[in-house]
Amino acid sequence: MKPLGPIPAGYAAVDGVLAIGGQPVTHWAEQAGKTPFFVYSANHVRQRVAELRAAMPKRLSLHYAVKANPFPPLLSLMTELVEGFDIASGGELEIVRGAGVPLDAVSFAGPGKRDVELEAAISAGITLNLESEGEAARAIAIAEKLGATPRLAVRVNPDFDLKGSGMKMGGGAKPFGVDVERVPALVRTIRQSGAEWRGFHIFAGSQALDAEAIADTQAQSLALAARLAQESDAPLPQCNLGGGLGIPYFPGDTPVDLKLVGDKLAARFADLPDVLADTAFCIELGRYLVGEAGVYLARVVDRKESHGEVFLITDGGLHHQLAASGNFGTVVRRNYPSAIATRFDTPVEEEASIVGCLCTPLDKLADKGGFPRADVGDLVAVFCAGAYGASASPASFLGQGPAAEMLV
Ligand SMILES: *Cc1c(COP(=O)(O)O)cnc(C)c1O
Repeated sequence: MKPLGPIPAGYAAVDGVLAIGGQPVTHWAEQAGKTPFFVYSANHVRQRVAELRAAMPKRLSLHYAVKANPFPPLLSLMTELVEGFDIASGGELEIVRGAGVPLDAVSFAGPGKRDVELEAAISAGITLNLESEGEAARAIAIAEKLGATPRLAVRVNPDFDLKGSGMKMGGGAKPFGVDVERVPALVRTIRQSGAEWRGFHIFAGSQALDAEAIADTQAQSLALAARLAQESDAPLPQCNLGGGLGIPYFPGDTPVDLKLVGDKLAARFADLPDVLADTAFCIELGRYLVGEAGVYLARVVDRKESHGEVFLITDGGLHHQLAASGNFGTVVRRNYPSAIATRFDTPVEEEASIVGCLCTPLDKLADKGGFPRADVGDLVAVFCAGAYGASASPASFLGQGPAAEMLV
């Protein structure tokens, strides 16, 4: 048997069936009217935000990185919980607009912003995290044409990365951000243009579980922000310290020690250089806020044996949950946390692989895991499905159609 990832805290059985938001998933399957579907738990998200608020210094604002999960009801919930939103495209701009997110709380990062996207963002009063000198020049020219004052920040390509992060976003040659030594000149250009100068965005990596590494990166980011503000001879209204907090997906992963991160950041905040005395700080998080709040549910449509191995064949698959199949940026495939949702309190009885309905051997949700004996009609749950699930999977592949989504 191969181990499964750890099921996140907060999930229990009611009458033997996995419950979310106090109701068994069989209830949510009826509400969805079809399988597969994603359920996102509002309470789970609220609790996660409360834990962060309790651990982090008051001075630190929270932003939500929309690309983790842009489901509109979830965004509406987030407007009650966080101070800002980070988007990465004109498409996400329209989604946050539609969900009623206040646009002056939105910032826009991401390489390759088209002129039409810059125009829409400037018109909406969104802060642009500029990724290059070329993008800055286009933004300034577009604002002039519109007769608008653009709100401009610089995304810095830091000269360090987040150790142990699943995705390195800084350090060395990158398509993201402006290299450190070129930042002061760009800041001067922006301020001379008459734009509203907003500050720095420093994002060094993602999906880290090591609290010491996260704290080190935050300390390095603060030092870099101070140095660049001084060299640019500019005040620093805002500094986005990036994110990086990960969640346990795989066997052996353990949650981030939030208290350690919060205590170390509080100590840094208590000892800031003068140039950062009036700076507003934020972090931007995606998966940490919503990842564990989501569960993907699919129904077993066939049970078969081949060469002595059991396959539970479901109506779901990698077209909805690409990451769980191991095809979204992992080197070695390991099992996400998963379970037979309709037999949630039954002990392990057999080894089985949970697969999807696509005609590819890549379509595997759990490889040789230990499960209770499941049959046609049972529901399987894949956890940690609240981030990079529905919107980060090839839903059109093989014509199976999208999964339903619900916030409960
Ligand atoms: C993707 C991304 C995030 C969110 O990353 P998570 O790992 O989901 O927290 C935050 N900021 C930027 C700039 C990103 O590209």
